[in-house]
Amino acid sequence: MKGGTKSGFAVRLLQWYERHGRRHLPWQVDPTPYRVWISEVMLQQTQVDTVVPYFERFIARFPDVESLASASLDEVLHLWSGLGYYARARNLHRAAGLVLRLPGGKLPDALRGLMTLPGIGRSTAGAILALAHGQRHPILDGNVKRVLARFYCLREWPGGAETSARLWQLADDCTPTERIADYTQAIMDLGATICTRANPACGHCPLNADCGALAAGCVDDLPARRAHTARPLRRTHMVFVLRHGNEVLLRQRAAQGIWGGLWAPPEFPGEDAARAWCVSMYGTALPEPQRLPALRHSFTHFDLDIEPWVLRLPRDSVRVEEPGSVWYMLQAPLSIGLATPVRRLIELCAADDQGMIQESADGKNGLLRAARPRSGRARSRAVSG
Ligand code: SF4
Repeated sequence: MKGGTKSGFAVRLLQWYERHGRRHLPWQVDPTPYRVWISEVMLQQTQVDTVVPYFERFIARFPDVESLASASLDEVLHLWSGLGYYARARNLHRAAGLVLRLPGGKLPDALRGLMTLPGIGRSTAGAILALAHGQRHPILDGNVKRVLARFYCLREWPGGAETSARLWQLADDCTPTERIADYTQAIMDLGATICTRANPACGHCPLNADCGALAAGCVDDLPARRAHTARPLRRTHMVFVLRHGNEVLLRQRAAQGIWGGLWAPPEFPGEDAARAWCVSMYGTALPEPQRLPALRHSFTHFDLDIEPWVLRLPRDSVRVEEPGSVWYMLQAPLSIGLATPVRRLIELCAADDQGMIQESADGKNGLLRAARPRSGRARSRAVSG
């Protein structure tokens, strides 16, 4: 079996996979192209343990391309809520509609055809074809990049054009001519479970005999990070209008931009705009909105500080509803998409209404990083949304 420029790369990996690989994940049970596609998109930037329950719920509701294409985007985003990187869900929905218009209404079974669909790049297309059809294509997701960069001791940042081309070539060289699906899963598993970003278990790695980074003593430095650039910080103000302590006014966000198509409270770039909106909507008779500590949320390329304002309406207030807005009831939530920090802030505002909020002890600058209801577990900061 051909595969690997160093002796027996693929053979050793496959032997390891037989004993230690993951072979009972939900999408492996019946690896149709559709199920593999959904799983591969969910697994982009997200760990297997997180993906499994989302995958099961998604597949139960959308078992095939037809059901996904005919669903509303709201429902798709609702099932995606908490998984982050919502462009993935929007792309899946759009791609499902496009697939139905193809001859036969099926996912293409060739690399080029798959790559014309939104959200499917070369690596995802290769993984779908390898895992569902056994076609020989290299893949280069984050896990595979890390394994190859370390094994071949590539010291350059993998995002550069030259290094990326070199990694693709190495990925191709290493891919065997047989047992493609097993090999593809094996190299992804090795990156996810042994050659991890922090504390890789080199002692248990089937490639440790001739791993370049291990021999050079630079495992922890690879893959190389991009030259440091200051991470931008943005700020936004969200007004949580509360009725009866358990209904909050939400608007649907524009399709493009962060959290596109999801629902969130009215949002403003500054204090003046937030205050002016409160007055224009509800007059001056209400008490000043309450300000809660800001919540910092990290996106891939910037941090966002969300300044929550809580505006409590009197019990007899009229239900003002703008076009494109809903009153979201905590006790009977609608099936709409909510980003994790928005959901968290809604819960915190409602908890605050009942005097249950605790401010984070570690927030040096007042940021709400790990506030929790009294009886709940601390919630970790979401990274992607
Ligand atoms: S020996 Fe260590 S660094 Fe090298 S591929 Fe294996 S786990 Fe990764």
